[in-house]
Amino acid sequence: DKLLAGKVALITGGSSGIGRSIALRFAEHGASVVIADLQAEPREGGTPVHEEVQARGARAAFVRCDVTALGELEAAVDAADAFGGLDVMVNNAGIFRGKDVLEVTEDEFDTMMAINVKGVFFGSQLAAKRMIRKGGGSIINLSSVAGLQGTAQYVPYCASKGAVRLMSYALADELGPKGIRVNNIHPGLIETTMTTGDVALFGAESGEQMLQSIPLGRGGKPEDVADVALYLASDLSRYVTGASLVVDGGLSRF
Ligand code: NAD
Repeated sequence: DKLLAGKVALITGGSSGIGRSIALRFAEHGASVVIADLQAEPREGGTPVHEEVQARGARAAFVRCDVTALGELEAAVDAADAFGGLDVMVNNAGIFRGKDVLEVTEDEFDTMMAINVKGVFFGSQLAAKRMIRKGGGSIINLSSVAGLQGTAQYVPYCASKGAVRLMSYALADELGPKGIRVNNIHPGLIETTMTTGDVALFGAESGEQMLQSIPLGRGGKPEDVADVALYLASDLSRYVTGASLVVDGGLSRF
């Protein structure tokens, strides 16, 4: 059965990797999707996801949006209004950088926080305003296993993803009475441009060691995360809010 028939979803960072996979999965399940991203083309190459979705007969739009610019985020939410109003918000846009803590500059720290934390906060706020009018909705925030445990070389990233985790709990507390559910997804090691290019975990020695210690015996695929997002977006999770779902093949213990 289609789990999101008639629903409207907005996915930030939806052009590539995990966000792209979520957009395609939601569309398969009957949702109209708005992709908000810096670029329409996937970082990994290929056709823009909104075109892929449209080619399969579902409604989709692309809005060029930097999640740190509130006016652009608002334009993306407006595009969802044009489809009938937002039901599902996925705050997925994020960046990942690794560096010795003693070398991190103010500019690098501020950029990490602006995209990974401020973008999620105002994405949630703008979505909540629309969802309250509609009588409810589901907000899904992409944290990370790095938002549950601290890891050397990733201090600003861990700080940003820990902030996302607690933000979701507080949002769940405040927005629950309005019918809005807010949950975290904590992916482990998922194969995207982020983990093969920005930080080469796949292929690198340290990354390979981590991959070998995964109980399920493989690294994650974007689709592994998209199916969990589908669950959180749909009525299957109607009594789930303020939850943290770890999607890491068993790598960590929470
Ligand atoms: P990715 O780099 O493949 O895709 C991220 C997308 O976000 C890109 O399309 C990029 O253009 C977009 N984006 C970046 N900055 C933006 C901005 N300022 N405004 C709008 N869009 C922006 O990354 P991914 O691996 O798909 O990661 C998606 C999310 O999942 C991120 O929040 C990431 O931190 C989280 N995550 C990923 C992994 C992993 O192993 N890949 C693990 C844990 C958490």
